[in-house]
Amino acid sequence: MDAKILLRVERELVAQHGESQRDRARLGLRQLAARWRAEDGDERDLAAFVTKNFLSDARALEETARRLEYALEMLDGHASEVAREIGRFQVLDEGPSRPIDGLLAALSPAAHINDDLFQGRVAFVALLNFPLSTLEQRLGAGRGWTREQWALARLVERFEHRLPAAVQQEIDRVSSAAEAYVDGYNIYCGRLAGAGFPQKLKLISHWGLRDEIRGQYGRRGALRRQQILARVMERIVRQELPAEVVNDSRLEWDVEKNLVRGPSGDGWRAAPREKDVRYHHLLSVFRALRKADPHFPGYPTHMDRAFARQREIPEARVRELLESVLTSSAARRVAGLVRQRLKRPLQAFDLWYPGFRPSAELDERALDALTRERYPTAQAFHADLPRLLGELGFAADTARYLGEHIVVDPARGAGHAYGAKRRDDKAHLRTRVSAQGMEYKGFNIAVHELGHNVEQVFSMSRIDHTLLEGVPNTGFTEAFAFLFQAHDLELLGQAAGSEQAESSDERAALRTLDRFWSTFEIAGVAILDMEIWHWMYAHPDATPAQLRQATVELAGRVWNRYYAPVLGVRDSVLPAIYSHIVAYGLYTPDYPLGYLITFQIEQHLKGRSLGVEMERMCRLGRLAPDVWMEQAVGKPLSSEPLLAATSAALDRLAR
Ligand SMILES: [Zn+2]
Repeated sequence: MDAKILLRVERELVAQHGESQRDRARLGLRQLAARWRAEDGDERDLAAFVTKNFLSDARALEETARRLEYALEMLDGHASEVAREIGRFQVLDEGPSRPIDGLLAALSPAAHINDDLFQGRVAFVALLNFPLSTLEQRLGAGRGWTREQWALARLVERFEHRLPAAVQQEIDRVSSAAEAYVDGYNIYCGRLAGAGFPQKLKLISHWGLRDEIRGQYGRRGALRRQQILARVMERIVRQELPAEVVNDSRLEWDVEKNLVRGPSGDGWRAAPREKDVRYHHLLSVFRALRKADPHFPGYPTHMDRAFARQREIPEARVRELLESVLTSSAARRVAGLVRQRLKRPLQAFDLWYPGFRPSAELDERALDALTRERYPTAQAFHADLPRLLGELGFAADTARYLGEHIVVDPARGAGHAYGAKRRDDKAHLRTRVSAQGMEYKGFNIAVHELGHNVEQVFSMSRIDHTLLEGVPNTGFTEAFAFLFQAHDLELLGQAAGSEQAESSDERAALRTLDRFWSTFEIAGVAILDMEIWHWMYAHPDATPAQLRQATVELAGRVWNRYYAPVLGVRDSVLPAIYSHIVAYGLYTPDYPLGYLITFQIEQHLKGRSLGVEMERMCRLGRLAPDVWMEQAVGKPLSSEPLLAATSAALDRLAR
């Protein structure tokens, strides 16, 4: 757009609205003109549009903001509801899968909304009248902003970038395919030769396999079964496993020799490997996301968008936080304690050692029996929500309100939480319930998802501004999910007296070590995820086979740098097993960030009510992370409290 024309329009606006509006007019014009395309109209159209839509009256501005807020809630809320309902056949366990399911799930009713808002010029009204902010401003001056200022910042931020619908649809399509791939990736563990798993045991990678490794600790013959499962994971990462053993119970598989045997009594044979399908999906996700690059001038890579834009924590700061945990002196001390407790040299999979958790001394089969009986169906879990929430510390009327705003659905996958985007819609809790009822692992995940749902309901349906709906980033919603998950045994009436710990401060010390060990474990996965993305950007034309090779190498490097010195095992690739790496485009850093946030929130909650405080925090909404933390717990995000508490816990246990 010609600078002279902009200057002329600016003069007209000043003549019409007064000298006091000059700065606003200039800024608004600049914001609008930078996003106005030829197809939006010529210079005369622009000038006429600006003259008609620039507002200076405070009341007119306020009412316009409110109308936009309501309209966006309706658009996003209903689109999200439609997406959820047409996607249900793929994700819900309500009958056999049909080919149509994936096609319906891949449709995205929301993909066009922002395009339409630009085409219909609604976006230009926002850009003309409300100022865009930078991340630096939000993290700096944002500390002193009013709720209204934050809401307006979020309103206009949405129109900072103009992503074509075709690009978004491509992202949704490949992401949905990658999700379907990981959600349907089961290994029939009963068919693993020499492992001795129950014949029918079918586990999803990586969640189920990892949790089975965790569940094995303390059982007779555990080490061998754990080693076999870890070997399965390694073969998945390296894509060496026979393609035929994925989701298929017919073949017996000797994991070590990598041979299979059919049911008809013929001998062991080699079978064609799964041909880098895993990496094909990851590359598709990468290529689709990369197509968005030119549309985000301030955030030219997916890494920039994932960290500076979505998380609002710069990548360098995230890396620094993660490394502070990975290279802490506490890591070696905790590993020493794990070795001492296991009475054997550590193995790579001991990163998943759950022995500091109260559940470690419980019999999981007994817990399965308990949850199966209590929750034969998803509805049974729903009916129990008010009680579960009451025990977590929510007042009876709040617990009832939450129960009414959360729908429980039976999931095909491991489970997830699907929040509403409209005040009057409901959050959905998707949980896996087998024909025999809900297993303990499923319950544990369901309680985690419930934490997400409660956060979603408070931050959507009970917030002052729907423009601020949500929490600063997914790390924060994970924090509430972890907070809930940590209470799962109490909710089954199993916590009291279940630990050998002598005193409550010893129990607290063990819990802290568990938090530390979980953060330590997932921090390396997050760094690996980041390195894989940097590698893909450096090698945009890589083949799936090259990406596989690079992943194996990067995993080994991350391992040898952070884990080998602590565990004494070299060259493992286990961190690369996480399915998120394949399907969710740099999601994994949210887990360690979530643990750190959880820890800070937990410290804050000591002596306070979870029910009251969680609602207060969630109703802060989507402020920038550090601003949220300061208002929620009084301090910015930091690993310091976790590291200090871990050292203190180690000292306490050494006494
Ligand atoms: Zn979660």
